[in-house]
Amino acid sequence: MTHPIDDETHRQQMQEMKRQQDEKVRAADEKRGIVIVNTGDGKGKSTAAFGTALRAAGHGYRVGLVQFVKGTWKTGEKEALKRFPEIEHVVSGDGFTWDTQDRSQDIASARRGWELGVTMIEAARKDPERYHLVILDELNIALRYDYLPADEVAAVLRNKPRELSIMVTGRDAPQAVIDAADTVTRMENVKHAFDAGIKARRGIDF
Ligand code: ATP
Ligand code: MG
Repeated sequence: MTHPIDDETHRQQMQEMKRQQDEKVRAADEKRGIVIVNTGDGKGKSTAAFGTALRAAGHGYRVGLVQFVKGTWKTGEKEALKRFPEIEHVVSGDGFTWDTQDRSQDIASARRGWELGVTMIEAARKDPERYHLVILDELNIALRYDYLPADEVAAVLRNKPRELSIMVTGRDAPQAVIDAADTVTRMENVKHAFDAGIKARRGIDF
């Protein structure tokens, strides 16, 4: 049988934890925007990005969101985010890869999306109020297929305006992009309903 720890030991452990936490909070005194990468093959990369857009909009900050892959079909996020005047949402992808099966068209739309993203980033350099956050959703996919050079993207991330945060999503983030980021999360696929034959669900998956 395990003995529950007594109240005094618990109190001391919590006190120590709080001391360590307070110290970390004190040490984190640099204030600037960050580069965030959501990668890995588990579900949640894009939805976490949309959640961050909501979070920023809630503070009245402006958000630029470029979606590289989702094509013309109607997604819940596109409809919902329209309701927020703070969030500017553009879709540059024509579907990509297995849908278009047209490499030169994919390259052109990746380039178009990237240039839009760069325009947003540069607008934030001139006026930090213009964008607080720029989201490049599925940019990693464009990099993975070599539709855009990863080095070019990494250089822009490294040289971003100080106050701006940039969020990049998509599986298989190239090392150059990971190296340029401040926060990187790799979503792990423990299981996914699709593999059990369950259809992508409206309002959950798109
Ligand atoms: P979400 O948009 O749900 O956050 P994601 O951005 O992490 O997903 P993507 O690789 O962009 O993942 O995949 C987009 C679509 O594929 C979504 O409909 C998502 O539910 C689905 N999906 C994500 N991960 C998996 C997986 N491991 N297996 C099958 N389908 C997946
Ligand atoms: Mg995604």
